[in-house]
Amino acid sequence: MSDQDNPRRVVIVGGGFAGLFAARALRRAAVQVTLIDRAEHHLFQPLLYQCATGILSEGKIAAPLRAILSKNQNVAFALAEVTGIDAGRRQVQAMRPGGQTTEFDYDYLIVAAGVEQSYFGHDEYARYAPGMKTIEDALVIRRRVFGAFEMAESATDMAERRRWLTFALVGAGPTGVELAGQIREVATKTLRAEYRQIKSEDARVLLFDGGAAPLAPFGPKLSAKASRTLDRLGVEQHMHSIVTQIDGTGLSVRAEDGSQTRYDAGTILWTAGIAAPSVATAVAQATGAKQDRAGRIEVGTDLSIPGHPEIMITGDVMSLNKLPGVAEVAMQTGLYAGRRIRHEVAGRAAAKPFRYYDLGSAAYLSRGRAVVSVGRLQFGGFPGWVVWLFIHIGFMTGYRNRFGALLSWWFAFTRDLRRERTFTTKQVGIMSDVYEDLPPASPGTGSV
Ligand SMILES: Cc1cc2nc3c(=O)[nH]c(=O)nc-3n(C[C@H](O)[C@H](O)[C@H](O)COP(=O)(O)OP(=O)(O)OC[C@H]3O[C@@H](n4cnc5c(N)ncnc54)[C@H](O)[C@@H]3O)c2cc1C
Repeated sequence: MSDQDNPRRVVIVGGGFAGLFAARALRRAAVQVTLIDRAEHHLFQPLLYQCATGILSEGKIAAPLRAILSKNQNVAFALAEVTGIDAGRRQVQAMRPGGQTTEFDYDYLIVAAGVEQSYFGHDEYARYAPGMKTIEDALVIRRRVFGAFEMAESATDMAERRRWLTFALVGAGPTGVELAGQIREVATKTLRAEYRQIKSEDARVLLFDGGAAPLAPFGPKLSAKASRTLDRLGVEQHMHSIVTQIDGTGLSVRAEDGSQTRYDAGTILWTAGIAAPSVATAVAQATGAKQDRAGRIEVGTDLSIPGHPEIMITGDVMSLNKLPGVAEVAMQTGLYAGRRIRHEVAGRAAAKPFRYYDLGSAAYLSRGRAVVSVGRLQFGGFPGWVVWLFIHIGFMTGYRNRFGALLSWWFAFTRDLRRERTFTTKQVGIMSDVYEDLPPASPGTGSV
């Protein structure tokens, strides 16, 4: 029987950049692909912070996987959460949305499940300090950020008002820096004329990081540029600072000299640390694969698990040569895995080892300012922002989303408009449930 009658089955776990690029590379191959994701959408994570701060709606950064894959006749999409694999029987176990278990047989398996937020062993912080990895996270943050200004406006106690107008961010990587700058822009521009009891521009944004400078991986020159821009925006930078405790009313921080300081803050956001999802551990246990400190699966240069050439690991959940967890790595590894299978089923020679082509990185700082690093070329300011704009428009999924994003940016950048902030008192109520162990508003709890 030929491959046409009985095509090999490829299962892809995850419809992020890696999974999607793998599926695209297989669209003309004689294989039957099933892409499984626990979300119905492909998420453009690099713009999550714009959803969290009211510029872009969730629909502009999340595109339905079924719609994206509808023209790929050999690709089926399944909405399910993968829970484990049986490497001997070549079977993936998953949970359907209703909770029932289901199985998918494979000849080839591509794991592209991304990573999750890590709280460095303090998962109890998650309740008070949400991370930003999923669309749900961005919507929770959006409610908390805009909800905090509402709470401040209606507070009668000055200490409580000050607390709600204090935003603390943990982690000064690209996500923390982008969020910090955006919250100051929300406070000083978007909301400036909207409140009567508070001055939104009084909002303090505190950025904490254990390292020496923000955006350290971009190198000292761009890092210093980022730090100056944050200063100008009014973000208070606390470097060499380790967060030692978080609760419903603030956080404690240990400085380089060992001293502890308590900061009252109504909103705390966590953008430090990543960990592989539980499915990575399930795959490692089923195959004997090694995991690195963050739980990512170690692979050989053909991206497969040693002893299991039929299982490839791609994107953020893969550990190879200390490659960074960025979209470019995910896309290139996804493409490589898909092409490797395509060539194998076509009987072509074994693929060359995977080689990463570093096309550089960019981080948004504020309106009209970004930093870009491409090899030895490093620049920032307005030219950096223009490059940032083209990169992000280029990689967004679908013309409708690109056009919609451009339009929203035009209004946000020229008229300070952020219209994507819908929430109700019920949701602010949910937010206060989260802080249910808040002490009653009392004087004398001012920030340090
Ligand atoms: C806030 C933020 C900003 C970023 N900014 C940038 C940037 O500016 N530039 C850049 O290059 N990179 C950036 N990144 C990193 C970049 O987004 C990632 O490197 C990239 O998304 C990784 O792609 P992936 O396919 O490996 O994983 P993901 O995109 O995370 O996709 C993983 C998919 O797997 C699914 N999944 C997970 N577990 C299961 C399971 N058990 N069953 C079924 N499905 C599952 C998830 O639902 C998800 O759809 C940013 C990341 C974040 C979070």
